[in-house]
Amino acid sequence: MECIFCNIIEGNAKAEIVFEDEDIIAFLDIQPINYGHTLIVPKKHYDNFLIVPTEELNRLTVATQYIAGAVKRSVKADGFNVITNNGDSAGQTVYHFHFHVIPRFDEDFNFKPRLKNYSSGGMKEYADKIRSAVSKYKDIYNGQKN
Ligand SMILES: [Zn+2]
Repeated sequence: MECIFCNIIEGNAKAEIVFEDEDIIAFLDIQPINYGHTLIVPKKHYDNFLIVPTEELNRLTVATQYIAGAVKRSVKADGFNVITNNGDSAGQTVYHFHFHVIPRFDEDFNFKPRLKNYSSGGMKEYADKIRSAVSKYKDIYNGQKN
């Protein structure tokens, strides 16, 4: 399947690249939320966050921290968001995993969804569902920690 990020990595599509090493590339988002909005992308194609191998994710996180600092300083931002969108419902448009670094300025815009309140017992119900899934996948997590 055609992937715009793979095309950029292979040099077959243009991008404003700000960082590159053997495993990772970072370039400007073509439709920035704020100017300087940067994407940090593994050179290997993974569809989403859940399937990026631990070792690779660690290196991506370190690169994202490094680049976030550079973005913030270079555009004199007051703060920044680091986000990753996974799935259509979360706004993922390119199915090649990436982190977004979005520089933020005091009073630039509201990023706040309408917050919900749990009904009585609702919080425990959700926590139970998540605890059950957490324990189901604990072996995988423990395996990856080593
Ligand atoms: Zn790709």
